[in-house]
Amino acid sequence: MASKKRAEVVGAGIAGLTAAIALARRGWAVRLHERDREIRAIGAGIYLWGNGLSVLETLGLYQEAVVGAHVGPVLESRDHRNRTVEAVRINGPGQPRVYTITRERLIDTLLRGADAAGVEIHTGSEVTEVDPDGTVHSPGGRAERADLVVAADGVNSKIRDRFALVRRRVRLKQGASRLTVAMSDGFVPAEDRGKYIEYFSGRRRVLYTPSSATSLYVALVADEDDAPAGRIPVDPDAWAADFPELATLLRALADVPARWDTFEFLTLRRWSVGRIAFVGDAAHAQPPYLGQGGGCAMMNALGLVNSLGDVPRSVEPLLPAWEAAQRPTIEHTQRWAYRLRLVNPMPNPVRAPLLRLAGRIPALGRSRLRAAMTVPTSSPAGPVRGSDPR
Ligand SMILES: Cc1cc2nc3c(=O)[nH]c(=O)nc-3n(C[C@H](O)[C@H](O)[C@H](O)COP(=O)(O)OP(=O)(O)OC[C@H]3O[C@@H](n4cnc5c(N)ncnc54)[C@H](O)[C@@H]3O)c2cc1C
Repeated sequence: MASKKRAEVVGAGIAGLTAAIALARRGWAVRLHERDREIRAIGAGIYLWGNGLSVLETLGLYQEAVVGAHVGPVLESRDHRNRTVEAVRINGPGQPRVYTITRERLIDTLLRGADAAGVEIHTGSEVTEVDPDGTVHSPGGRAERADLVVAADGVNSKIRDRFALVRRRVRLKQGASRLTVAMSDGFVPAEDRGKYIEYFSGRRRVLYTPSSATSLYVALVADEDDAPAGRIPVDPDAWAADFPELATLLRALADVPARWDTFEFLTLRRWSVGRIAFVGDAAHAQPPYLGQGGGCAMMNALGLVNSLGDVPRSVEPLLPAWEAAQRPTIEHTQRWAYRLRLVNPMPNPVRAPLLRLAGRIPALGRSRLRAAMTVPTSSPAGPVRGSDPR
């Protein structure tokens, strides 16, 4: 019997965990390196669209991931006077599928999946460098050669930066504070409680996201130089000035741990060098205006593994075909997410009619959601084993 092919995966975020599970399910011996001492979720809640949900189904992890998920009926955009200017119906027949869960639930589910699939998980294991021939270097001069290296080490990937692969990287002058708070009746009117709502006012947004029956994920989006808006702990008065209808909710955020992230957009000249494949934010980071960074990371990690087939003689000749198959949809989505940054600085009287108009053009909605509505399970090589259809 042929000996197992060996893959080294760098980074235990959404992309690395997905790739590691899919590879192990295909019979690879997989070692996953995470530089932090523990693997933990960063952020608060997460939107999982059809593409991410399909990946979880393929990996046999869907049922576990969606326990306690919130399944909203609509995504609404509200103007500065709290009037609905756009409403996208979701989760009904023929409509886009999108669930929200806590980040902990997603990462813990993937971690258990990796463990069950036999992935060798190394925490506190920083990879310092990878050579195109698949040699992975760790501190102390350790070096191991693999048949495939998946670089999923995030937007600041050091592995990538050794190869001058970046075609375009934009650090947006916008970002968000993210928090989770216990759900309460007084935050929004009863009829709005289960909806996903994005409130716009001035150059700021508030994203209201139930992420389970008891928890609410809130993202406060603002310009990076808007100091009162970026303050941590959150300054409720600074936000309530623009969103008086949310004053009760904003007050409840005052003592809650929060995390600020500045948004980034990144494209590469190519997604592989020799035996190294780059996935997730390391290859295609995008601002979170479509809630698709994680979905694209999962879709691409699974797409990579599917494109390799069962026992490839060598991965190098297969990687360009993987990139050619995945890249158009992912870059299309990145471009949309990047364009949507322009909505923030629009004056209130311009933004409201524009969003209303955009909501009436179905082709725009379909284009924006192209990746989100992709079902990334089939490939010429056949699906990864372990499927768990709903
Ligand atoms: C405000 C905000 C909201 C978002 N909302 C959504 C959403 O609703 N839905 C969605 O799909 N996406 C969303 N995203 C995007 C999503 O969070 C990211 O696209 C996704 O987490 C990227 O995952 P990743 O695995 O590529 O990278 P990361 O999550 O950054 O993981 C990289 C991992 O690699 C490790 N690492 C780094 N260097 C090394 C090394 N040298 N050796 C070993 N380990 C290393 C890091 O410690 C880390 O654990 C959002 C992003 C932001 C900022």
